[in-house]
Amino acid sequence: MRHSLLPTALLCLSLNLPTARAEQAPERDTLFQLSTIDALLAGVYQPLATLDAVLTQGNFGLGTFVGLDGELILLDGIVYQAGADGRVRIMPGETATPFISLTWFEADQSLPVPPNQDYAAFKDWLQAQLPSRNLTYAIQLKGQFAHVRYRSVPAQQPPYPPLKEVAKQQTFFERDTISGTLIGFWCPDYVTGLNVPGFHLHFLSDDRQSAGHLLNFQLTEGEVALDLTDRWTVEMPEDPAFLAADLDTDRSRALHQVEQAPDSQKAQK
Ligand SMILES: [Zn+2]
Repeated sequence: MRHSLLPTALLCLSLNLPTARAEQAPERDTLFQLSTIDALLAGVYQPLATLDAVLTQGNFGLGTFVGLDGELILLDGIVYQAGADGRVRIMPGETATPFISLTWFEADQSLPVPPNQDYAAFKDWLQAQLPSRNLTYAIQLKGQFAHVRYRSVPAQQPPYPPLKEVAKQQTFFERDTISGTLIGFWCPDYVTGLNVPGFHLHFLSDDRQSAGHLLNFQLTEGEVALDLTDRWTVEMPEDPAFLAADLDTDRSRALHQVEQAPDSQKAQK
């Protein structure tokens, strides 16, 4: 018994959590994901599930759409598409996705973020607050940004090229003085191949006019909420494209290239 009780007690201590967390239904603290990040890197952009089907698993997360048609943001049960044209649309439930990660967001802890941080400083700061690097955290940051830099990717046609080829066509966007929410996850290193180790965040402005895969920011002020996620469900699609994909190759370098783009590349306003 001590074995199972001790970690929860420690987590509650370090996060100042109410003991209620331990009583939450386990499926509420589950990260559900469709397919794997390496399948996406390999070019598996096929329609593997509808939004209606995956939204039974959570109300908060990120991913992409069939054909890699833009960045997906899921907030409060609403799915937004951040298109490569810079437009943000609410997507209907019959829309298909090749990759999505989501959970039921219930904050275990909220913290004011030290003001005037950039993304690198924020990452260092938040990682120092995590009670363990061996769990997954859903992250929701609401804030005022002096500057945000993000990107989206254009829709592809089969036969699909690998993601690192598509990344050459990505569009960069920058916004100044904007309020919005960062939505995403921090995952342990051991999820390599399955999901994105470390931070993966998408941006959605409060006016719902600007959104995309986060690359950098200068935060004026904000508050970050964390939801500890200690279970994982992976749906391995029985789609021919997934079954035939080469998932033996180490794609960590390709992932790093795709996730972070150099600041020097030109952005559209
Ligand atoms: Zn992303």
